[in-house]
Amino acid sequence: MNKRYVWIMAGALLSLPLFAQNQKEYPGRAPMTHEMTEYWWPQPPIVTPGQAPVDPIPAPSDAIVLFDGKDLSKWENSKGGPAEWTVHDGVFTVKKGTGDIRTKQKFNDFQLHLEWCTPVGIEGESQLRGNSGVFLQGMYEVQILDNYQNETYVNGQTGSIYKQTPPLVNAMNKPGVWNTYDIIYTAPTFKKDGTYRTFPRVTILQNGVLLQNNTIIQGTTPYVGFPEVIQHGAGPIGLQDHGDASAPISFRNIWIREL
Ligand code: MG
Repeated sequence: MNKRYVWIMAGALLSLPLFAQNQKEYPGRAPMTHEMTEYWWPQPPIVTPGQAPVDPIPAPSDAIVLFDGKDLSKWENSKGGPAEWTVHDGVFTVKKGTGDIRTKQKFNDFQLHLEWCTPVGIEGESQLRGNSGVFLQGMYEVQILDNYQNETYVNGQTGSIYKQTPPLVNAMNKPGVWNTYDIIYTAPTFKKDGTYRTFPRVTILQNGVLLQNNTIIQGTTPYVGFPEVIQHGAGPIGLQDHGDASAPISFRNIWIREL
């Protein structure tokens, strides 16, 4: 061992107590349960949307088509491998147990269109009935759930910012009928300390009916616990494999316009 190395080691050891002093310990948060962030009242009023289109609504000319009915080449699994959900008859369906999927491309501000459908004869209740979700920038979940004649906690029903803000109304089509989502999203900006300078914001229409009107997103959307602010840049559009026992849901006609 040479002399210089010894001095460096000695210096490091001597500075340890100083370092430890700077690492002040604060009390941890009390443990939480998922029920602590769920509320069931008031239930949003039910609005019957206009007649659903039989065929997909065509994408505008400047849109990036993320699913055109043929394959999932624009998507990947959460490890960066191929998306394994099942493509059939111009749509794709959640393949339970294969995990969430996300777009390969990352986005900032956008207008997103997608269509989704729960199958006729779907069973289960509350959250265990066609549960999926759209993740904005891979961070913030807009809930997808079959809430047709199926109540749940309102900040977890279709069109909610999950565990944060319930939708203005319940505009569900019944199982077997396609639902449209049009989502207009503004990405957050961050201060140097990693907190929001401007919050993320979102407007959501389901079947042409307004569910969220430029709503502030307060942070991440965990099942247990409060929203957290995590600094991030551009992110993918994610779709959730919730893994519940009810029949899986299908998607079609997904396109996005960057803003
Ligand atoms: Mg979900």
